[in-house]
Amino acid sequence: MNTMQDLMCAIRESERIAVFSGAGVSTLCGIPDFRGANGLYRDPNMARMFEIDLFDRDPSFFYRYANGLVYNTETIHPGPVHLAVKRLQDVGKCAGVITQNIDCLHERAGSDPVFAVHGSAVLHHCRTCGDVKTFDEIVALRAKAEDGVPHCVKCGGVYKPDITFFGEALPEAAFYGAMRLAQEVELMLVLGSSLTVSPANSIPPLTVRAGGRMVIVNAQPTAYDGMADATFPDLKEFADAVMEAFPTL
Ligand SMILES: [Zn+2]
Repeated sequence: MNTMQDLMCAIRESERIAVFSGAGVSTLCGIPDFRGANGLYRDPNMARMFEIDLFDRDPSFFYRYANGLVYNTETIHPGPVHLAVKRLQDVGKCAGVITQNIDCLHERAGSDPVFAVHGSAVLHHCRTCGDVKTFDEIVALRAKAEDGVPHCVKCGGVYKPDITFFGEALPEAAFYGAMRLAQEVELMLVLGSSLTVSPANSIPPLTVRAGGRMVIVNAQPTAYDGMADATFPDLKEFADAVMEAFPTL
């Protein structure tokens, strides 16, 4: 497999594929990443936004910083890769998406199932009584709140997104679902992930160990390139190729 067209052929010949996505697919929509050269974690404040103790002391800190990453639906939209992945589902190829991203953009693009292995903002739980609200409900509640913090409609507590904060356990159901999917598919497409964050980076290789193939599309080399059938650097080229190779019916 040498060219993007070869990759499109490999997708066409596969009955079931899965996508494993990372920050690179969202940086294409203008969302900054966390660990890259200009990543958010270079700002010490940003590095603290996922501290659970800080969230419980001052939730406005998280919600202030998370606005431009997750909640601002005016400026944050699914990008070309999210739409290409949804297209692969529409044409019956993509059996599921595994993502390290917390921004809900695969879900907002219509992909289903999405296994968000670092949690996501699709659902929020009240820290006090456990009441559940959807992303859209939280966006509406935040718009009405002066400090941008969504308060529980039942008890006045604070809603926290089901994003895995530092020190919290990874979402088991998403993780096991992702592992099962990886073992079932013929082709695993790694999109926009450098596969550096453990244990999520152990998921795509499961496809190879189960006899399937892995292709990596990422701007930088990854530690798993040697395990891949092919690697490509350009996500936008990938997204364009998918839209052209798999037109809607
Ligand atoms: Zn509550």
